[in-house]
Amino acid sequence: MNIFDFFFEQKKKKIFPDEIAFIYSESYNIDLVNHVFPGNKFRKVFELLSLDDDFIKVKFYDPEKISKEDLYLAHEKKYIDDLFNLEHTEKTKNSELPLTDKILNSFLFGAGGAKLAITLIDEYKFVFNVGGGFHHSFPEHAEGFCYLNDVAIASEIYLKKNPEARILIIDLDVHQGNGNAFYFKNHKNVYTFSMHEEDLYPKKEKSSLDIGLKSFTKTDEYLKILENSLKRIKNEFKPNLIFYLAGADVFENDALGSIKLDMIGIKKRDQMIKKFALEQNSKTIILTAGGYSKNFIETVQIHIQTAKVFLGEL
Ligand SMILES: [Zn+2]
Repeated sequence: MNIFDFFFEQKKKKIFPDEIAFIYSESYNIDLVNHVFPGNKFRKVFELLSLDDDFIKVKFYDPEKISKEDLYLAHEKKYIDDLFNLEHTEKTKNSELPLTDKILNSFLFGAGGAKLAITLIDEYKFVFNVGGGFHHSFPEHAEGFCYLNDVAIASEIYLKKNPEARILIIDLDVHQGNGNAFYFKNHKNVYTFSMHEEDLYPKKEKSSLDIGLKSFTKTDEYLKILENSLKRIKNEFKPNLIFYLAGADVFENDALGSIKLDMIGIKKRDQMIKKFALEQNSKTIILTAGGYSKNFIETVQIHIQTAKVFLGEL
């Protein structure tokens, strides 16, 4: 490698505050009593990031609510009607969440966050949404804590503007991204990759690449499998936009999953995705997705760690 290439490589790996934007809305948070979903984790992540010296120069953007017109790009009208009527019907009841104005609002802002992310991604290398990644939502029904599919809506908006775009979804939440797999199965511009625990909710749909892990998979094995999967994707698809669902529920202390990644392992996972994105020269939107650690603050720490990986040096 000559000296110019060397400096280019070095520069490529360092992300400056003006190369990454953050998105957060106070409306993302919901109050749930005796529920496994940590509805206030978004606020805690934002609060701690705001106090962190590394984030002083970083810009935080506040999204607007998504419009009904945008919702119809990815969702059936009857389903949206049921949602706005705040009715638990056949279409909405499998969310396993209550349905109130405030909860609906949090999903409208969540999808608004994804829409804002695809606008900002023209200016930035990375956009980190402190929220989003509701990958169990289908066009005509809700599932698994997910009412609205933010990635499907944002992808439709992006593809309208950039019909030749090639979008890669890297879903490393512990649960399979069944809603995304279903939604994008006939989209030739979108490649869905889900690496998840096999013997776990949900009922699986077919992604472009599914890697179903054995329960209790440990850090070293996980990272090896991820590395091999990324090599395979490199040969199959060249993205110019990546959605990275950086689920925290692969953590060893998670209440819903049984994959056994430690904190350092999750950091290495995130670094691997960042390196992949830079090598592919692809813009990347990071979404926090799931996380249900038995100790609330651990979920928060994992999301903060992901934010730091994407802000800092590789
Ligand atoms: Zn999950």
